[in-house]
Amino acid sequence: MCGVTLTDKEDFDLLIVGAGPAGSFAAELLARGGAKVALFDGRPAGEPKACGGGVTSKALKAYPHLLDAAGRTVSEVEMFSPAGGRVRLSLRDPFAIYSRTAFDSHLRERARSAGACIFDVRVSADFDRREGEPWTVRTRDKKSAWRGRVLVAADGANSPVARRLAGALPNSEMEVAFGYRAPLPRADEAPTVIAFLPGWVGYAWAFPRLDHVSFGIATTQDAFDHRALDELLWDFMIGYYAQREDDSAPLWSAGEQRRGAVDKKLRATAEEKLRATVDAYAARIPGLAPETWDARRVCGDGWALVGDAAGFADPVTGEGIYYALRSAELFAESFLAGRLDDYEERCRADFVRELRRASEMRERFYGEFFGAPFTSRMIDLARLLPGVRRTLRELVAGDQGYLNLKRKLARRALLPF
Ligand SMILES: Cc1cc2nc3c(=O)[nH]c(=O)nc-3n(C[C@H](O)[C@H](O)[C@H](O)COP(=O)(O)OP(=O)(O)OC[C@H]3O[C@@H](n4cnc5c(N)ncnc54)[C@H](O)[C@@H]3O)c2cc1C
Repeated sequence: MCGVTLTDKEDFDLLIVGAGPAGSFAAELLARGGAKVALFDGRPAGEPKACGGGVTSKALKAYPHLLDAAGRTVSEVEMFSPAGGRVRLSLRDPFAIYSRTAFDSHLRERARSAGACIFDVRVSADFDRREGEPWTVRTRDKKSAWRGRVLVAADGANSPVARRLAGALPNSEMEVAFGYRAPLPRADEAPTVIAFLPGWVGYAWAFPRLDHVSFGIATTQDAFDHRALDELLWDFMIGYYAQREDDSAPLWSAGEQRRGAVDKKLRATAEEKLRATVDAYAARIPGLAPETWDARRVCGDGWALVGDAAGFADPVTGEGIYYALRSAELFAESFLAGRLDDYEERCRADFVRELRRASEMRERFYGEFFGAPFTSRMIDLARLLPGVRRTLRELVAGDQGYLNLKRKLARRALLPF
């Protein structure tokens, strides 16, 4: 355990700003390896980070202790095409859905037990380092300050620390995600849903947690129209509850009009109930352009960026938790081996190539393919062909990368097994 108090003036090996998954996991591994670590986070107790909280089976296999955090494991996912076509995927390996309050405090407590010093304060972006001296970070009121040899930005997508160390990311390289926490429909009957949006880039999700459902939409910043997308999300949420009453009810109301079998009353009642109970959230997710993956530095002389602060999220899906953990691990290993400079290269070799490919593919993934959205074609084919269903399953599990996705889909569509 750390014996340093807020007023002690000790020097640290590392100052880590942000105790989300990236910062806490890095702090845990570094402290276990013998480094003296200060970890800062100013998030008020009980205030969750805006997030769907979905953690792929790939991440659970790499970091099995995540299963000790209180969450829900999921072994079936319903996927919808923009036109409302549905495919149910049974997952070979379950993924998990967490409340971020539970998930983050699990990781933070592991860091604390490993010996990291955790300070519940928000530090200022006004940090500095004089020639030959360590870094100094301080609280905004400058009443407390800490010194450390290496400064790590783990302060999320908007990271002011990363902005000063590596430069700002343009707005166009930020995706937007917003949503609502809403009551569970029935404890035993809350499917996990991913639905590609009709007419928009991105998707909506319904991720049931232990005591509520997290609904949300992730889309690109340049196409963002909050009012229209919020209406779409309400339509999706109401459709989700309507399907709990009647499995054949359409997910999107456009589908309802087409069917002509309108149960407007059911939808109106569901909406009224929901409006009185939901709790809104919104935040940004990095979605880097291919050139930025090539050019942006994630470490330098005595500093490093991890997780969202480094831009490490999947530009197609917005998944960032796995990359936050993996980058933290690669950073900790590089630091402990005395080769901080290797960190960037190790990230490139490990996952950056995949994510760069995802940003090249994003437009096509959400674009047209033989006269219909590619996502529609993919879901329609998956309904018919077990081989395509398998690829989708692997995509959801985090086991299917982007480098060979197109080839695999085409091969399995032709050879449907
Ligand atoms: C709506 C939404 C839904 C998402 N859903 C998913 C999902 O289902 N699955 C998935 O894998 N990814 C999802 N993501 C992405 C995921 O949330 C991030 O990729 C992940 O949280 C990154 O972890 P991190 O540790 O890098 O940053 P964060 O989790 O953002 O943690 C940063 C921490 O730094 C702290 N901080 C910030 N500034 C300071 C400061 N000045 N001083 C001290 N502390 C500071 C913050 O309080 C925060 O706790 C979603 C994102 C959004 C916005």
